[in-house]
Amino acid sequence: MRQPFESMPTVLTSEELIDKAYRENDRSELEMSDYVPPIVKAKKREAARIKVIEDVTAGYLEGLVKSVPTIENIHPFYSDLLEILVGTARTKAALGRISRTARIIREAGKATAAKLKRTRNPAAAGLLRRSYFGRVASLVRSAEADLNAIAEMREKMRDLPTADPAVPTVVLAGYPGVGKSTLVRALSSAKPEIRTYPFTTKEIIIGHITRGYMTFQIVDTPGILDKPISKRGKVELLSISAFGRLSNVIAFIVDASERNDFSLESQKALYDDVAASFKGVPLLVFFNKCDLATPEQLKRAEELFGPGDRLSALKSEGLADFVGKLEAALKEAFSAS
Ligand code: GDP
Repeated sequence: MRQPFESMPTVLTSEELIDKAYRENDRSELEMSDYVPPIVKAKKREAARIKVIEDVTAGYLEGLVKSVPTIENIHPFYSDLLEILVGTARTKAALGRISRTARIIREAGKATAAKLKRTRNPAAAGLLRRSYFGRVASLVRSAEADLNAIAEMREKMRDLPTADPAVPTVVLAGYPGVGKSTLVRALSSAKPEIRTYPFTTKEIIIGHITRGYMTFQIVDTPGILDKPISKRGKVELLSISAFGRLSNVIAFIVDASERNDFSLESQKALYDDVAASFKGVPLLVFFNKCDLATPEQLKRAEELFGPGDRLSALKSEGLADFVGKLEAALKEAFSAS
């Protein structure tokens, strides 16, 4: 699957667009017979030049606006990222102004062509064309900031990795060090994929799991679902939301051995936080590091979280049951949607 911003073409600066219009204009010389009267020749030549300038500039701006995916139609994962990385309102406003500029260039082109028809001498025809060129150049220059904004948006959005919402996805949550990446590596049928995203310096690890006819992915998102939501800034919140939109099921991993300075109680607080932030997304809990956890810790974990499956990612114990639970939850989530 392709991602929606991938096919956006390079964005010209306003000076580049003006140069392009002049170049095309120089190339468009009309062949006319010597018998055509000078005023007719002049009118035809200037009308053709006006049309070239209009089509090159307005046509480019219209094409640019069309090349931007309709924000309402893209997967929320990408619209969240657009909001985080660029700003949706800013992008829409820039696109609106660029469309308006294209419309004004077209209308002024038509008005100039109409005036040209009424002209009676060649010099006046040349003057009309030059004044139209001047108007178009200043209109294009006034779109400079908006063109730059779209160019910047393209830079940020086009290299985002593809996210295929059709692939059933389990996102792992839990404090750092609880064993999430060990789990992904232990479960993935092939080498896990590593992806980078612009809003976190950490790599996202994606494992692919095939069970019978079903293939799903299991995603470890360091820095995303591993600290309390209340301690997050806006960008972090939106990236959490973007990932929430990709996940069909969240598997919350508890370090039952409390090895990583996170008590079971603090892990429960993070669990509650994740549950409150992703209402509607099934949330399963698993107790990892059961090879190290004491019976007392396991009992306390169940008192806090309720019953959860026990596993040891390191020793590959309980993994088949873990995958079975995820598969069942995904099937349920998909049949419900
Ligand atoms: P993450 O930050 O949640 O991705 O945690 P990691 O997967 O990097 O694991 C942190 C540490 O815990 C590593 O040293 C792992 O080898 C270790 N670890 C993970 N799972 C287990 C387990 O089930 N038992 C034991 N003993 N160690 C584990």
